[in-house]
Amino acid sequence: MHLRLTEEQKMVQETIRKFVEKELIPLEPEVLRNEIQGKPSLSKEKLKELVNKAKAAGFWGINTPEEYGGANLGQMMQAIVIMETSKSFVPFQFGGSADNILYYANEEQKQKYLIPTIEGTKKSCFAMTEPAAGSDTQRIRMTAVKDGNEWVLNGEKTFITGGNEADFVMAIAITDKELHQSSRGREGVTCFIVDREMGWKSEYIHTMGEWGASKFSFRSSPCSRRKYLRRIA
Ligand SMILES: Cc1cc2nc3c(=O)[nH]c(=O)nc-3n(C[C@H](O)[C@H](O)[C@H](O)COP(=O)(O)OP(=O)(O)OC[C@H]3O[C@@H](n4cnc5c(N)ncnc54)[C@H](O)[C@@H]3O)c2cc1C
Repeated sequence: MHLRLTEEQKMVQETIRKFVEKELIPLEPEVLRNEIQGKPSLSKEKLKELVNKAKAAGFWGINTPEEYGGANLGQMMQAIVIMETSKSFVPFQFGGSADNILYYANEEQKQKYLIPTIEGTKKSCFAMTEPAAGSDTQRIRMTAVKDGNEWVLNGEKTFITGGNEADFVMAIAITDKELHQSSRGREGVTCFIVDREMGWKSEYIHTMGEWGASKFSFRSSPCSRRKYLRRIA
């Protein structure tokens, strides 16, 4: 099948191509140096600078619904953007999007977490994988136990993309052990939004390619009840 690009798509392709050539490719030696030294590939300041340039060029929220300030340009445009940015190994993505799960949050949570994530002022990460639980969610061990008005989280998460930079995590924890066992891991778990200030610690996992993996430790991290996001069916 031959896919012909529309004039608009060609224009976007050309603009992104120029952005990659001018802004990303020159950063490659710095990224390599940082990776060899075990540092994040891009410093927070550099990342912020790129984000501002991307916003100024109008590439923000490419596939985010318009009601949340996105451009909602569709899959084809997204594919064009990914094809062009993949020409550099600098790990930069045009932001303005958020994990799907945040769109199911309540209004207060949307204002506090979804909107700032889309705007790029907050960074999120999603944490399900644990040292002994990958594909098999029955093996999740992180617990969330209610203590008065708070939920207290205990456990470990690993291989979490962007975890070291995140301001908050959406962490999957067991809230009903029996149900979790009897439903073979499909129920009895809840996704909690936990701000970093609430006490969780993250640590880089050094990999050959830099994609921001990290591991977490929740040791009695309190998580207030109003941060409850939703039960995963
Ligand atoms: C680049 C990258 C980014 C990631 N980012 C995140 C993130 O942001 N958040 C997060 O929570 N996790 C993240 N992960 C972790 C990822 O979700 C897990 O690697 C994935 O769930 C697989 O788990 P595992 O590596 O433990 O492999 P395993 O679960 O041990 O699986 C190994 C192999 O065994 C097979 N297998 C497993 N169980 C069964 C079974 N019961 N029957 C038959 N075959 C089976 C699997 O299909 C697979 O082929 C990331 C991983 C990578 C590589």
